[in-house]
Amino acid sequence: MQTSYWKLQKNSENKEAMEQAAALIKAGEVVSFPTETVYGLGADGLNPTAVAKIFAAKGRPNDNPLILHIAQKEAIEPLTTGLNANAQKLIEHFWPGPLTLIVNKSSIVPDAVSAGLETVAVRFPSNKFAQDFIRACGCPIAAPSANISGRPSPTNAQDVLEDMQGKIAGMLDGGSCGIGLESTVVDTTEPVPTILRPGGITYEMLTEVMGAVEIDPALQGDKNFKPKAPGMKYRHYAPKAPVYLFEGEACQKLPEVIAKALAAGKTVGVLCGRALERELAELVEKQQLQLACWGDSREQLAADLFYLLRDFDRTQPDVILAEGVDESGIGLAIMNRLRKAAGYQLITLQNGSLHLKNSATLPEFMIQ
Ligand code: AMP
Ligand code: MG
Repeated sequence: MQTSYWKLQKNSENKEAMEQAAALIKAGEVVSFPTETVYGLGADGLNPTAVAKIFAAKGRPNDNPLILHIAQKEAIEPLTTGLNANAQKLIEHFWPGPLTLIVNKSSIVPDAVSAGLETVAVRFPSNKFAQDFIRACGCPIAAPSANISGRPSPTNAQDVLEDMQGKIAGMLDGGSCGIGLESTVVDTTEPVPTILRPGGITYEMLTEVMGAVEIDPALQGDKNFKPKAPGMKYRHYAPKAPVYLFEGEACQKLPEVIAKALAAGKTVGVLCGRALERELAELVEKQQLQLACWGDSREQLAADLFYLLRDFDRTQPDVILAEGVDESGIGLAIMNRLRKAAGYQLITLQNGSLHLKNSATLPEFMIQ
């Protein structure tokens, strides 16, 4: 299949591109489009045949439901049997924006979208290109992230095409996504709103408006809990090399561990902030190390995380060591994605020595 490509211009209606892309959607095809979180893979959300093409292009398990994207608040009404007070308050405060709401679904939502659940996920993105595209289509757009299932989500057009060229009918290139992590998913059908996936709208922002907010306990990686969002159970965002995530005080041991891994003849990728980058400058000069530094802020890390993880697939080191961040604000979403990328291989410091959570055996180069 030929993938049509349109470069979108800022401060323009991009009329021709939007019309042509919308025509493909109306014909039941799949088109990738930018949002403020990551790139989406869109199809007519009320057309089961079109929705099936999204699952095929991604290789997505069909028990993992999709988000319906709309371009005005009222457009949620036909998709649900009703909104409770919590849902209404969340919409009022956070839409448009990176917040997805789980609500009871109406009969017009195909089972293919909700993966057979009685609920449906709905979001009103703030990205202007996304809004113009959805409006031009005139229907809710079902869209997961535009990556092959299991790979890091794409945050620029090149990363979308790497996974989707030839598999989808069209691609709207709106440049880099601002936030870089997927939307926060909140279940509004429980008495207390519950975060099923952390994202751009933080726990702190939600509690300020809603008072009590719960977090799905499965997000901590405890195998005894089953995640309420079906998609959260899959290994995801994973580069091909094994990833170890250093948490809390264990990060202080990273320079030592890196030196030891290099001495053992391994090629090493490191994902870290500015301070550690400075410490490792000498090793990078010797070109023994692939260092991916996100800079000084966690917002920058959120924006660059998936791009940096994908970059490791281009170079393929033997092992990737990632420096964790604190979990306040956007840190909760960052650590959630990093833990999944690491397949829950989490390194902590206990009584002065390193431990691998969920397993007894540390890799050789981490034993001190
Ligand atoms: P993605 O579109 O890949 O960014 O993922 C959407 C996320 O929302 C996945 O983790 C889904 O499992 C989750 N999700 C979608 N619909 C529902 C629903 N009705 N109930 C719970 N989680 C959902
Ligand atoms: Mg995804």
